Amino acid sequence: MVSAKAPGHVVVVGAGIIGLSTAWYLQEHGIKVTVVDRGGVASGSSWGNAGWLTPALTLPLSEPSVLRTGLKAMLDPASPLYIPFSADPSLLKFLAGFARNCTPGKWRAAMGVFAEVGHTGLDAFDEIAQAAGPGAEPTHPAEPFLTGFASVADRDALVREFNVIRETGGSVDYELMSGEQLRALEPTLGPAVVAGIKIRGQRYINPPAFMDSLAESVTSRGATITGAFNVVDVRDTGTGVEVIGSEGRSLQADAVVLATGAWLGALARKFGVKRVVQAGRGYSFTVVPEAMPSHPIYFPDQRVACTPLGDRFRVAGMMEFRNVDAPLDPRRIKAIVEAASPMFTGINWEDRAEEWVGARPCTTDGFPLVGASRSPRVHVAGGHGMWGIALGPLTGKMIAAGLTGTTPPAIMRHFNPLR
Ligand SMILES: Cc1cc2nc3c(=O)[nH]c(=O)nc-3n(C[C@H](O)[C@H](O)[C@H](O)COP(=O)(O)OP(=O)(O)OC[C@H]3O[C@@H](n4cnc5c(N)ncnc54)[C@H](O)[C@@H]3O)c2cc1C
Repeated sequence: MVSAKAPGHVVVVGAGIIGLSTAWYLQEHGIKVTVVDRGGVASGSSWGNAGWLTPALTLPLSEPSVLRTGLKAMLDPASPLYIPFSADPSLLKFLAGFARNCTPGKWRAAMGVFAEVGHTGLDAFDEIAQAAGPGAEPTHPAEPFLTGFASVADRDALVREFNVIRETGGSVDYELMSGEQLRALEPTLGPAVVAGIKIRGQRYINPPAFMDSLAESVTSRGATITGAFNVVDVRDTGTGVEVIGSEGRSLQADAVVLATGAWLGALARKFGVKRVVQAGRGYSFTVVPEAMPSHPIYFPDQRVACTPLGDRFRVAGMMEFRNVDAPLDPRRIKAIVEAASPMFTGINWEDRAEEWVGARPCTTDGFPLVGASRSPRVHVAGGHGMWGIALGPLTGKMIAAGLTGTTPPAIMRHFNPLR
């Protein structure tokens, strides 16, 4: 049903999880959608990520100890957090803003916002799944989701974070485990894993398969997805918008949604979106363990995230604050291998495939930018940092509510892109 306030035709720029989820929810309101991307479906961060839908771990990056890690990281290319010495003014602005948010008080306040998101992100995945029917790529229950540690003391840090989630109104259902108990569930874990936590109520997806399925769903409902369309400018014409691509192409519509991930600033800045969106680049690859794990596994100290993807096992990690378009740096892949390999047995780490780098769109306060810009016809949906997959469908729902004048999910009040 099209509401009186709804635009008839919307162009969505970006065919990642945020852009495609936005297209899907706009279609729920009967709106005609055209999606354009300079690559194709999932050509950014939405392809090689860990695919976790984990409310228990959807936490802000600005944990106060990250600052100490960050200073050390500047001197150590093997660190899980990599910040190059750089005079790039945008990176320096981001780092200064990020440091201001790494206080215990601000971190706790951010924890409260993520606690409020809770399981609503999963509910939005279920809405899409119910409409898509049995043929669509599903979300998988992680029952249980596992974390592993080299010492009990290392584990205490995550338990403290879970306590803060509970104190700030959220809930986490978890149980402490020994190394032996973990190995009984996942024989591929090695003797270096001496303690762990199993967490219930979490899920995961196979990102490439899920993105293809979501794209199929959006096109089967009438959208056009056009690849190789590099948007160089967006104009508000007063009654609509003009979306201008390189090579002289252009599209007219009633409104546009900018869902361009770590590239958001380039198109959104002229519409009053001043927040820096910095690329927090992560890396992944896949291997084939002798005993294929059946649960996602997280090693918080090593900052390594592992996800079973059917016949392959994805290993992901690193947070590299660098130019979004810099090429893949093989030293980061090596750093992930060095961090992960002691925690497993039965994996040939030389036999890697699908080596990948992608950019998490990070904001200084850790919250996404979701809603109308200074122009009521130009909306932005980005800056989800480490949690754009988990929050993708919920973001689509928020943007669709904003564009149609219907009541948005209450959490949206924290994500004003003009803040
Ligand atoms: C290693 C790693 C692991 C991660 N694990 C998780 C996880 O487990 N769970 C989770 O929730 N999140 C995870 N994330 C974060 C998540 O991947 C991102 O937050 C999310 O994919 C962002 O989605 P997006 O649609 O905003 O951006 P993207 O997926 O990057 O999509 C943006 C799209 O915009 C297009 N584009 C950009 N500029 C233009 C232009 N000018 N014209 C046309 N097209 C343009 C790009 O080609 C791209 O396809 C992880 C990220 C990394 C790197």
